[in-house]
Amino acid sequence: MTDYFFKTIVLSVCFFFFSCGTKAGDQEKQIRDRPGSNLNRQKSEKMPDKVLKTSEQWRQLLTPEQYDVTRKKATEPAFSGEYNNFKENGLFRCVCCDSDLFSSENKFDSGSGWPSFWAPVSEKNLKTAEDISLGLIRTEVLCSRCNAHLGHLFDDGPPPTGQRYCINSIALKFIRNSQGF
Ligand SMILES: [Zn+2]
Repeated sequence: MTDYFFKTIVLSVCFFFFSCGTKAGDQEKQIRDRPGSNLNRQKSEKMPDKVLKTSEQWRQLLTPEQYDVTRKKATEPAFSGEYNNFKENGLFRCVCCDSDLFSSENKFDSGSGWPSFWAPVSEKNLKTAEDISLGLIRTEVLCSRCNAHLGHLFDDGPPPTGQRYCINSIALKFIRNSQGF
């Protein structure tokens, strides 16, 4: 009788722990599957969401000069931009959507009159298109998140890539790195 009683207690305790473990697993799955949960967000942060706005919405967010360059593909005059002769350490983000575009670590003085970089922070954050305006065939550089026109890409840059991302200052927003990397 005592032996039977003991076995019943052991089995009950085992069943209790088993069911608790299953419930905890189910709860974690439910939280992960819930839209907007932290676990879900961590997974999707690698691919930035697209930013789509109407012309009128962009006009309200940007200065007329920023709008002309980023949304209408204008070019700021050479040697006029804020970041042409600029040597501080930090990150250059898209002025329209804040996507990380270029690092000061990859900036170089091209002498062209526009800020120049030999590589982006991530190629996923940029996209390119053929530009046949002005009677030239050039490669246009755009923000992949919001479609902002940023500048052009040339293959006469320095090592190690040999690329020159020639970017309008006005399309960029500088974030100083306080840790000084
Ligand atoms: Zn953008």
